[in-house]
Amino acid sequence: MSFADLGLSPRLLDAVARSGYVAPTPIQAQAIPIALAGRDLIVSSQTGSGKSAAFILPTLQRLIDRPAAKRGPGQAARVLILAPTRELAGQITDCIRCYGQFTNLRSTAIYGGVSQFGQEKALRRGVDLIVATPGRLGDLLRQGLVRLDQVEVLILDEADRMLDMGFLPEVQRIIAQLPVERQTLLFSATIPPTIARLTSQIMSRPHTLSLVPTRTEAARIEEQVYLTEKAQKSRLLIELIGHQQVTRAIVFTRMKHGADRLVKELHRHGIRACAFHGNKSQGARQRTLADFRTPNPPLLIATDVAARGIDVDDVSHVFNYDLPADPETYVHRIGRTGRAGASGTAISFCQPDERGALRSIERFVRRPLVVARLVPAQRADQVPSGERVKTADREMGPTRFGRAGRTKSAAGSPG
Ligand code: AMP
Repeated sequence: MSFADLGLSPRLLDAVARSGYVAPTPIQAQAIPIALAGRDLIVSSQTGSGKSAAFILPTLQRLIDRPAAKRGPGQAARVLILAPTRELAGQITDCIRCYGQFTNLRSTAIYGGVSQFGQEKALRRGVDLIVATPGRLGDLLRQGLVRLDQVEVLILDEADRMLDMGFLPEVQRIIAQLPVERQTLLFSATIPPTIARLTSQIMSRPHTLSLVPTRTEAARIEEQVYLTEKAQKSRLLIELIGHQQVTRAIVFTRMKHGADRLVKELHRHGIRACAFHGNKSQGARQRTLADFRTPNPPLLIATDVAARGIDVDDVSHVFNYDLPADPETYVHRIGRTGRAGASGTAISFCQPDERGALRSIERFVRRPLVVARLVPAQRADQVPSGERVKTADREMGPTRFGRAGRTKSAAGSPG
């Protein structure tokens, strides 16, 4: 199947071709015709599946097919896209500008952490599409600075994460301002009961698509686990970075202060690294992301909440420096690599009190994770600092853990 078979206009097809896309991804092939038919749609799919284009392309097509009666200053938005984080809202807006480059449609991103002045100005000039995080949009609504009474299409992206972040009441207040006659598209990695309840309230006879990654997609990511003591983890990371072909890597820590500590430790060893978490200002995060996209990126040391929605392909490695508290987060984290057809490596560190967490991950992904180790004589904790491990001996086979111990959750603030 090609994009032309999906019934998109030449203006969109040209933009898609310019992005270098040869064929639609499975989610695009399935979702675009349903969305073009005007149906409500629930899609459960992983990040990296091409979901942004799956909702942006049919929505732009609708705006092209049915031009607004009145355009220009004061024009109220006809499409509202809600996303959990400012990074994701910014990335969706970039995608809209890219796919809509041969149209005259106008979009704007509305999110917190920056002055609302520029956003007010863009709204006054008139917009076709708004991409917003719920918090800031709610603020602007209460100030009477944004009108949502012309919205024909509502899109909720990463709905599960939006609810995890406590946005449900705000999302409900925003939806109450929208016309009842509209199309609603909802994208979510999982459909927990809270999302199912929400969809029954806000959607009308939705079509449901569930796109679990195929075996070949999953196989593009090589997963390894290193069993290690907590005190040896930074050493092990440094050894692995020297040893593996790491070109662009995200290292996940569970806590913000843990990320900062690790950055300092890496700097002491002359390794370029940047922390990426919720305590960093919006400007600092944008600078770090820009740096991360360059051909010579620093290691990105990130917490889960902040890392959500980082849209960077060519991530060669994901390190789970701390195992995530829940197995689903593991799947999200490793999905940052192996994107858009590339292969990737996901390396997890497991300290003794995380064995239970590792077992739940293995149960969740329904496969045993391979335990890798540096050769015994060159174990990271025995290598004098500065000396690099030349070879690694990988012990192939399922983890050989004994009975699962309970995982202690560390104190502190996540994200
Ligand atoms: P998403 O799941 O929307 O975050 O997209 C993941 C990545 O896949 C993005 O970098 C897109 O640019 C890329 N992508 C989306 N659609 C296609 C396609 N049809 N062919 C190749 N790459 C794509």
